[in-house]
Amino acid sequence: MKTIIEPFKIKSVEPIKFTTPEERESILLEAGYNPFLIRAEDVLIDLLTDSGTSAMSAKQWSGIMDGDESYAGARSFFRFEKVAKEITGFRHIIPTHQGRAAERILFGILGGKGKYFPNNTHFDTTRANVEFSGGQALDFLTAVGKDTSAIADFKGNMDIEALERFIAEKGRENIPLIMITVTNNAGGGQPVSMENIRQTKEVASRYGIPLSLDACRFAENAFFIKKREKGYQNKTAKEIAQEMFSYADGCTMSAKKDAFVNMGGFLALNDEKLAMIARNMLVVTEGFPTYGGLAGRDLEAMAQGLEEILDENYLTYRIRSIEYLGEKLTEVGVPILQPPGGHAIYLDAKRFIPHIPPHQFPGQAIVCELYKVGGIRSVEIGSVMFGKTDKISGKFNSSAMELVRLAIPRRVYTQSHIDYVIEVVSEVYRNRSHLRGYQIIFEAPLLRHFTARFEPIV
Ligand SMILES: *Cc1c(COP(=O)(O)O)cnc(C)c1O
Repeated sequence: MKTIIEPFKIKSVEPIKFTTPEERESILLEAGYNPFLIRAEDVLIDLLTDSGTSAMSAKQWSGIMDGDESYAGARSFFRFEKVAKEITGFRHIIPTHQGRAAERILFGILGGKGKYFPNNTHFDTTRANVEFSGGQALDFLTAVGKDTSAIADFKGNMDIEALERFIAEKGRENIPLIMITVTNNAGGGQPVSMENIRQTKEVASRYGIPLSLDACRFAENAFFIKKREKGYQNKTAKEIAQEMFSYADGCTMSAKKDAFVNMGGFLALNDEKLAMIARNMLVVTEGFPTYGGLAGRDLEAMAQGLEEILDENYLTYRIRSIEYLGEKLTEVGVPILQPPGGHAIYLDAKRFIPHIPPHQFPGQAIVCELYKVGGIRSVEIGSVMFGKTDKISGKFNSSAMELVRLAIPRRVYTQSHIDYVIEVVSEVYRNRSHLRGYQIIFEAPLLRHFTARFEPIV
């Protein structure tokens, strides 16, 4: 086997800025120890997110020039609609400016007080949109999915039995929709098997509840199925993706992930009536149904990106490069969520620095240190993001996992960038006994991790 190489050459480059550890120390202080508040130009390797950070292809850029900017019925819309229909098979494709806009519309219609939305694991914006509607967002991840050190093929799977018990208990009339997130972003970018999607669909059908995919990383999920699930080795990633979508009644999509665009998304539905209501809401908050919240050029780039993402040379490189980072960190003993997921490596902060308790945000401590030591920006996915202090009892409820996500932007960094990341994480790990916890000194009522400010505990 030869080295799996980047399946592209570089036509256009963007310099990155080097800073000293002393400079980074004061930058962090100024940003309230929250990397979301650091200027991007002060970051050397930006692993904050894989969302909207992809490098577009030459064909996508030429599509930008070729976009049809007509208000209604633009050619770019029809090209996008054709590609999206071809992959998903859904009847109604409704463009939105990003994934959460699709969620806002979907839960704006189906949500509300007393409504429950089961998912394998809700992503933070999905949960926020469900809760904003008055509904409740519930996660039904299998037990193995919650065990950060267990090695299993499909740790994103839904716990079907728990789901069915829940439906029987709450009543199907209170559950407007079941969702599956592929791959499971908040749960470590772990894939969901075709069998699990099929079984979830069976349960959903039995109770007459529609199933929707949170499809942000559908291509990465499809490729894991090809690699790991019996019977799929000889199918193309596209055929597998099509089968995944065939079990669902609709999807929400952030094209900022598996469509290589900097901005874009869509809502897809089979139900005629629901689609009509969704389009009405789209006009109010996003735009006319043939552009949603996007320009014609964005639709053109999204159509092209959706075609490129299913290229198996790309997917081979993509999945391997994440696995490579995971393997090297594991070799030096760094505890990570195993096995490596599709878009990111998640450091397990609980095992990385067991001396810092959840209420002192161990993930945040690692995030700050990675920036200080190497100018690397990562993000905490733990008690900063999901922890809650009970207003009445004052009791702190921590997140089930304390993770630090190193998300890898698509087609942006080369192997030597990744090798540098491995060196920095290894160094932080060697010196981990010096790390200290943090406390929050400011937080917003919703999605606090974006704007919270912290202080190191002395
Ligand atoms: C990114 C993401 C979303 C939200 O999409 P945006 O484009 O960021 O609004 C929803 N679900 C999952 C799983 C995601 O990764």
